[in-house]
Amino acid sequence: MPDVRSQIPGVDQLLLAPVFRRLLDRYPRARVVGHLRDVMDDTRLRLGRGEELDDLAAPIRYAREVERALRREEIPSLRQVINATGVVLHTNLGRAPLAWEAVEAMRRVALGYSNLEYDLAEGRRGSRYTHCVSLLAELTGAEDALVVNNAAAGLVLALNTLAQDRGVAVSRGELIEIGGGFRIPEILSRSGAQLREVGTTNKTRLADYLEAAEQGDVDVLLKVHRSNFRMTGFTEEVEVATLAGLAAERRVHLVYDLGTGLLVDPESLGLPHEPRVSEGIALGAHVVVVSGDKLLGGPQAGIVVGRTELIERMRRNPLCRALRVDKATIAALEATLRLYRDPERAIREIPVLRAIAATPQEVEARVRALVERLRERGVTVDEARGVSVVGGGTYPGAELPTWTLRVAPVEGTSAEALARAMRMGDPAVVGRVEGDRLVLDLRTVDPMDETPLLRRLREALAIG
Ligand SMILES: *Cc1c(COP(=O)(O)O)cnc(C)c1O
Repeated sequence: MPDVRSQIPGVDQLLLAPVFRRLLDRYPRARVVGHLRDVMDDTRLRLGRGEELDDLAAPIRYAREVERALRREEIPSLRQVINATGVVLHTNLGRAPLAWEAVEAMRRVALGYSNLEYDLAEGRRGSRYTHCVSLLAELTGAEDALVVNNAAAGLVLALNTLAQDRGVAVSRGELIEIGGGFRIPEILSRSGAQLREVGTTNKTRLADYLEAAEQGDVDVLLKVHRSNFRMTGFTEEVEVATLAGLAAERRVHLVYDLGTGLLVDPESLGLPHEPRVSEGIALGAHVVVVSGDKLLGGPQAGIVVGRTELIERMRRNPLCRALRVDKATIAALEATLRLYRDPERAIREIPVLRAIAATPQEVEARVRALVERLRERGVTVDEARGVSVVGGGTYPGAELPTWTLRVAPVEGTSAEALARAMRMGDPAVVGRVEGDRLVLDLRTVDPMDETPLLRRLREALAIG
């Protein structure tokens, strides 16, 4: 009996077939041929194992697999995700989605040239560090500002500039891990500063800082905002204003690692009190460090605001060059900051603020409309109250009442399998499994993404 493998056509012969000629119109020859050889090897291997395969002479059976492989290669590693987790600032899902204005500004500078480091009035070299300064000064009340890659970088730069080989006094209650292994004591030592721990885990008093300051080598008092956890019960800490008094008296600098980057009144978002950047400055911190992509709702960036003399020293620190931001970041940050000139507009147009400020009634109306559309297609789904959170290591314990869709998997499959199918398509949808349902919180889903979300549900439930 002749070897069935002899029925497999040759590469050159296959490439002449119309199905392959169409592929060659769309993809480079080398990639088509490479995948075709893999498919043919695989076919021979399977035949060798005794598998029975049909249509061995038909080009279409090879072309289909080659096309699938070519398509798979087109899927980018970093791709769009619809966040249906209800965690507004989801660090794993890229934290803050940007406002349209910010995206537009990025597009403009990304596609062409810009005056990133060029002084247009003078016709000569300028500085990339001038761009957001006046807006940040206006919005925070600080004298000067510097933008770097993220708040962690801002803190390293501040400590390296102000306290290299010198002592930094920090409360033992603030020696925290901020996230992803970012720990204050390690950041301090990598910055070249020496940690002087003061007080205890639950109680730190002014006298503790005073004692450290009197040791003589302390140049900086560091206040770290406990943004990601709450401490309750028998506790005591020293307020920023009190530390500012001590810093003035001892002629040392007060650095405030605030993190969250809130620029609007939290009450306007329905949130409890949380210090704003402007409060840090008003209370007398010499330098305040915040993140650009937490409650500020901008691009990943570290924003350092404070006294001109100190910010100027940071700008001149050679380390600043290693932490510098890209033009697209500056463009997005400037456009986001501009929206804050009208706080009501900021809440309407900055996605993070809009998602937090959405009322449960607004979310409920959207959920009910989707439930109705899904039921028309025979999907077993209902709506239920739920709780969203701000996330991103901010507002621990704060709960945002919300509404969720609870989707049942098709019979014979599981909610886990449905959740996975939702994650694997395009756009990916990330929700969570509760019992035998896939739970989708619409607070964090942009209304523009509802149609793709429905399409993905239809695909994952295979209801066409
Ligand atoms: C989140 C946070 C940081 C780190 O901010 P990144 O921009 O992610 O580097 C630093 N300090 C505090 C208090 C924070 O909450």
